[in-house]
Amino acid sequence: MSGLSKRVRELVRDDVRDLVPYDPGFSACEVNLSANENAYGMPSSVRQAIRHAARGVAVSRYPDPMANDLRDLVADWYGVDRRNVCVGNGGDELIFNLFLAFGGPGRTVVDCPPSFSVYATYAEVAGSTVVRVPRDPETFDVDVDALLEAAATADVVVVASPNNPTGNLMGRADVARLCAACPGVVMLDEAYVEFSDPSARCDMLLATCDNLVVLHTFSKAFAMAGMRVGYVLAATDVIDAFAAVRQPYTVDVVAQLAAREVVARRDDFRETIAHLRANRDRLAAELSEMDGVRVWPSEGNFLLVRVPVASEVRAWLRDERSILVRDFSSTPGLEDCLRVTVGTEEENARLVEALGVLLKKED
Ligand SMILES: *Cc1c(COP(=O)(O)O)cnc(C)c1O
Repeated sequence: MSGLSKRVRELVRDDVRDLVPYDPGFSACEVNLSANENAYGMPSSVRQAIRHAARGVAVSRYPDPMANDLRDLVADWYGVDRRNVCVGNGGDELIFNLFLAFGGPGRTVVDCPPSFSVYATYAEVAGSTVVRVPRDPETFDVDVDALLEAAATADVVVVASPNNPTGNLMGRADVARLCAACPGVVMLDEAYVEFSDPSARCDMLLATCDNLVVLHTFSKAFAMAGMRVGYVLAATDVIDAFAAVRQPYTVDVVAQLAAREVVARRDDFRETIAHLRANRDRLAAELSEMDGVRVWPSEGNFLLVRVPVASEVRAWLRDERSILVRDFSSTPGLEDCLRVTVGTEEENARLVEALGVLLKKED
């Protein structure tokens, strides 16, 4: 989609004038490896539990604004109090609320690109000044020294770990140093943490870092992208700020009950998460054997892949093979890069076969 009309550009706020509506680049394909969803969907045990719980639900009544039953389940899961949890309409809404509460005009938000593009967009919509601390152009590791320096005068720092779309982690010790260096709040976006090595988790830092906000979502590992539920874990007074700026009824009654069933049955997801991790490692090995292909190591359910003429490869996969992947080649630092969601065994095999036709195997 292109930008705003000349007429409307005159009418909107300055911060909004140059924005372009978010385009996930969706088109209907047989194999959708473009949005980092859980390729296996929900286990049937969880689907059944949700269906049962949804029977007779009173949709004529407003939902519980804070979703306290869900908050209690999440709090139990992480060994914290309900007052350390705030839910939102997907993680995206909580990112937006972070900037509404802690960013804004005259305040700075630190971003480490290439990363999730909505951070800079939402920060700017809220009127904040975005300070960019670029990642290493080869490894995409955070430049920790530069980040600590920028954090020292920041109101908000946001870092994704695993990072989307590059797949790498920020180490726990570095996250702790970042929280210590920043007088404002630090959001650690762990949207993909369930796919990563357990040693990567940082939620235990909440016990010692009172300016840390950990973001989680039900959209990725827990196969609920269509229902829109995410949550943040933070100190109680930080949660109060999230509660103060949020719209009260954004998590609807069906989404709340579905998320409760998912939390109660989270162990039922273990098998597909383990499958996706194994599929990821196999797919990475197969793709990196191809001529001219570079694959970065990933702790998420996706791979960043550099291929010659990526935009053409993406169009060919879509038009000739009905396989949809995400094109990042116009993102600075990600020239000729595609992001491929790890699919089922069959979906990955289709992708490997198709790319094998385009790109010969190395001898
Ligand atoms: C998908 C994603 C989210 C949140 O997605 P929601 O569907 O809004 O919960 C947050 N951060 C990153 C990096 C993501 O990739």
